[in-house]
Amino acid sequence: MSNDLGKLVLRLTLGILMLLHGIAKLSAGADGIVGMVASYGLPGVLGYLVYVGEVLAPLLLIVGLWTRPAALVVVINMVVAILLAHMGQLGQLGKSGGWALELQGFFLFTAVAVALLGGGGSAWAVGSTDPFARSNTAPWHYLWSLPMFKVPPVTAERLQLLLRAMPKAELHIHIEGSLEPELIFALAQRNGVSLPYASVEDLRHAYAFTNLQSFLDIYYAGASVLLHEQDFYDMARAYLARAAMDNVAHAEIFFDPQTHTARGVAMETVINGLHRACADARSELGISATLILCFLRHLSEASAFEALEQAQPLLDKIVGVGLDSSELGHPPEKFARVFARCRALGLHRVAHAGEEGPPAYIWSALDALKVERIDHGVQAMHDAALMQRLAQDRIPLTVCPLSNQKLCVFPDLKNHNLRQLLDAGLCATVNSDDPAYFGGYINENFTQVFAATAMTARHAYQLAFNSFEASFVSNADKRVWEHRLKETFERFVEHD
Ligand SMILES: [Zn+2]
Repeated sequence: MSNDLGKLVLRLTLGILMLLHGIAKLSAGADGIVGMVASYGLPGVLGYLVYVGEVLAPLLLIVGLWTRPAALVVVINMVVAILLAHMGQLGQLGKSGGWALELQGFFLFTAVAVALLGGGGSAWAVGSTDPFARSNTAPWHYLWSLPMFKVPPVTAERLQLLLRAMPKAELHIHIEGSLEPELIFALAQRNGVSLPYASVEDLRHAYAFTNLQSFLDIYYAGASVLLHEQDFYDMARAYLARAAMDNVAHAEIFFDPQTHTARGVAMETVINGLHRACADARSELGISATLILCFLRHLSEASAFEALEQAQPLLDKIVGVGLDSSELGHPPEKFARVFARCRALGLHRVAHAGEEGPPAYIWSALDALKVERIDHGVQAMHDAALMQRLAQDRIPLTVCPLSNQKLCVFPDLKNHNLRQLLDAGLCATVNSDDPAYFGGYINENFTQVFAATAMTARHAYQLAFNSFEASFVSNADKRVWEHRLKETFERFVEHD
C-alpha cells in the first residue's frame, strides 16, 4: 500500500514540477530551444517537440494516463536537454553544476524511476491497464481514480446479455456438485451401481431438497457412481463443456478426494481423470482449468494429512488446496498444521469461511491457515475491522449467490450482500458452488443476482475483472483475459 502511495507521490511531484518548468520556458518564448537545436544542425521542429514533451508529458503524469510512456518522453527530453544545453557545464562539473542542470538531472532520474516502477495510485496508470475498474484498495486510491471511472450504463435487457457474454473465471466450483442426474444414471449403469432412485426424473425430483442433510444424501449417492479414472474424466469434461458455454475462460476446480478414497478409489484415479479432462478442455474447448484439492473439514486433521501424503506424487497436477464441507463446529485452526505443510510445498491455499460460520472463522482462515482467498465470506459484513482487512489486502471472496439462497444464508436473493461487498471495495467474485444442486451454473448466478439486487454494468465489469485478478494464473494470462473483457464491454457500449 505505502509502496503504491510512494509511486503516486513520485509521479505527482515529477508531473507538477515538470509542468511548471515547461510553462516557464514557454512563457519566455519558444525561440531559445529551437535555435539551439538548429545550431547543432538538427531540424528546428525538434525544438518544438521538446516543448510539447515538457507540457504534454507532465499533464499525462498528473492525471495518470499512459504514465510509463509519458515518463519515457520526459527521459528522452531530459537527455536531449542535458546534452544540448549543458554540454559546457558537464565538462566542468567539479566547479559548478548550475541549478538548471541539477534540476534537469532531478527530472531525469525521477522520470527513470516512474518509467521503471509504474505510476501507482490510479486505475488509469499504465501497469493497471484497466480504465474501467475502480481502484479501491485505499481512500486516496479511490478518490484519485473516481473522476476517471466510467462504465457507461447499459439497459437491463442488454445487461443480461452482457453478463452472459463477458469472459469470466470460475473459482468456486465443487466438481462433484456438477453431476447432473443424467450423468449419474449413465455412470451407475456403466459401473453396475444401484441407486436408491428409480429414474432420472425421480432423482431430479429429489434435487429439490429441503435441508442440508437431504442435500448431503443426494450428494453422496451421486458420488458413489464414480469408480474409474474415466468416470472422473467424464464428470469434469461435462462441467467444462457447460462452463465454456457460459464464457468461462478459466476454472479452478475443487475436488474432495476423501469422499472417494474412503470408498476404496485410489487418489491417482481421481486426480489423473480430472487432470486429463482439464488438459483436453484446453485444447478442445479453449478453456483453461486447474485443480484444487479440498480437505473435508468434518474429518480429522490426521485424515487430511493422509490425503496430502497420497497426493504428494501428483502435486504437479494441482495448483492448491482448500477446505470445505460443514463449517460450523470445525474452525479453520483445526487444519493449521496441514496448511503450513501445504504452504511449504508451494501450494496455493483457499478455505471456505464465513458462509454460515462467524467472521472469526474468516480471521483464523487468514491468520492460522494463511489462505490467499476466502470461499463465500459473506458474513464478513458483520465485522468492520475484517472488512477493512479484506479490502486493504485485496483478499478475494468467491461468492455463490444461488447456493446462499438455496441453503438459506440469505432469506431471499434480493437480500444478498454481494453489491455491498463490492461497493465496500472488496475483491468479490461470482461462482456456482454446486451448480447441479443449487439451481444453476455461473451465468445463472450472475443474471439472477443482478436482477434481484439491481446491480449495474459497472458491477458486472468489476466482478469479471476481480475473477481474473483473484485467479492463480500468470500475470500475462490475466492481462490477456482482462483485455478480452474490456473488448466485450466496448463492443456492447458501442452498439447501445
Ligand atoms: Zn463451496
